Amino acid sequence: MYDHAIYDTRTNAPSYWEATAGHLRAPETPLEADERCDVAIIGGGYTGLSAALHLARDHGIEARVLEAGPIAWGASGRNGGLCVTGATKLSLQQMLRRHGRAATQAYHHDQVAGIELVRQLCADEGVDCDLCGEGHFSVAHKPSRMRELRAEAQALETLFGIRTALYTAEEFAAVGHGGTEQFGALWSEHGCALHPLKFALGLAGAARRHGAHLHGYSRVLDWRREGREHVLQTARGSLRARRVIVATNGYYRDGLAAALDHRCLPVISNIITTRALTDAEIAAQPFHTHAPMSNTRHLLFYYRLLPDRSFLFGARGDVRGTPEAGARMRAWLEWRFREVFPAWRDVEITHFWRGLIALTRDRVPAAGALENDPSVWFGFGYHGNGVNTAPLTGQRLARLVAGVDAPRDVLPRVMHGLPARLPASALRPWLLRGTYLALGLRDRL
Ligand SMILES: Cc1cc2nc3c(=O)[nH]c(=O)nc-3n(C[C@H](O)[C@H](O)[C@H](O)COP(=O)(O)OP(=O)(O)OC[C@H]3O[C@@H](n4cnc5c(N)ncnc54)[C@H](O)[C@@H]3O)c2cc1C
Repeated sequence: MYDHAIYDTRTNAPSYWEATAGHLRAPETPLEADERCDVAIIGGGYTGLSAALHLARDHGIEARVLEAGPIAWGASGRNGGLCVTGATKLSLQQMLRRHGRAATQAYHHDQVAGIELVRQLCADEGVDCDLCGEGHFSVAHKPSRMRELRAEAQALETLFGIRTALYTAEEFAAVGHGGTEQFGALWSEHGCALHPLKFALGLAGAARRHGAHLHGYSRVLDWRREGREHVLQTARGSLRARRVIVATNGYYRDGLAAALDHRCLPVISNIITTRALTDAEIAAQPFHTHAPMSNTRHLLFYYRLLPDRSFLFGARGDVRGTPEAGARMRAWLEWRFREVFPAWRDVEITHFWRGLIALTRDRVPAAGALENDPSVWFGFGYHGNGVNTAPLTGQRLARLVAGVDAPRDVLPRVMHGLPARLPASALRPWLLRGTYLALGLRDRL
């Protein structure tokens, strides 16, 4: 759907994360022979790596991951590192109307379990990924949005039993931040922030230690059936397996498996980071926490102060993906960052990068096995909220593939099965353009 620059797996994103953790990458070992394994996994991000780790460690099943670029080349190695709940574009009211109270509660509890799993994996596998921040702040970008945040606080407490705190603009300036788009905030107890590439490489290291094989630079070019086996063809080898997990999220390209085509709407998310802020700069534009934050815009800004006091600021946008459109996006993000935090208007931006997240027509994530071929499993559509959801989905897929659970026992009903198909791919940029316009207008009201 986008310019080939977005899919260029020859190099890693020029991100702050690569600059600070790229040296931790293990040498890549592309698939260079005809191999066989129990479970083949397509995609080496959190979903695929978590599935491989859990298959190997918890179920003694040999898994091999085939990744088109270097391991964690996709969104998992380049996201904002906000580990929070959500992963849906349905409002709470829409979720309740569409799925009912019990399923909504089960989905939300699962989202919290995803955050706990991330912490647990870091502790159990010795993954040092700079975990920081307690909870998540949702910041009102207009005074009128405090009404919504008050309602949300009440719903979180009564429906899900989650601790929250509401802050006026003055109160939040003392514990969070000030700036031109801060009119109060809602804190909710679940959430933290991490270095996404260190986390991904930590998962990869753990998966390898427990016996999984990870093949970077091994794009699956062709997929055929031979009897009961799947044969995945790469440029220099092939992999045969009885079961396959598709873990490609926003980087799925139609044509790989007919049943999965037209299910995933990839959307570009963009990030800038500054150099480390000085004491004087933090004093001029006080920022008091390392907790992850997003604001109440539909086209939201997500941001956080990193442990070394660099600042990360991100937003979705652009329907082309060309380098020129990327340059325009960078300029726009810089301009908006300086508008929102005016005291930092002269701070240099050191990195800009972008990547793909995945939306679905049902506006919730999807996981399960194909109806017409139960030996093929999938997990995708985290709506830009995969740091907690993707590792959990990988763990759940591993349990399902191992036959420990049935889908209805382990997957929240809300995300079980394939989402409805999207309109033809030529229409999707127009669909997105229209959505961005409509959401931008709503943000101004
Ligand atoms: C800029 C940005 C910021 C984000 N910020 C946040 C955030 O702060 N918090 C949050 O929760 N989420 C965030 N996300 C979303 C989050 O990163 C994703 O939801 C999550 O990483 C998805 O993990 P995954 O393993 O399913 O997919 P990915 O990490 O995208 O991995 C999929 C992989 O599949 C590979 N692949 C595709 N086709 C093939 C093929 N044919 N053969 C072999 N390999 C293939 C790709 O190369 C890719 O590496 C952000 C995403 C982006 C892009």
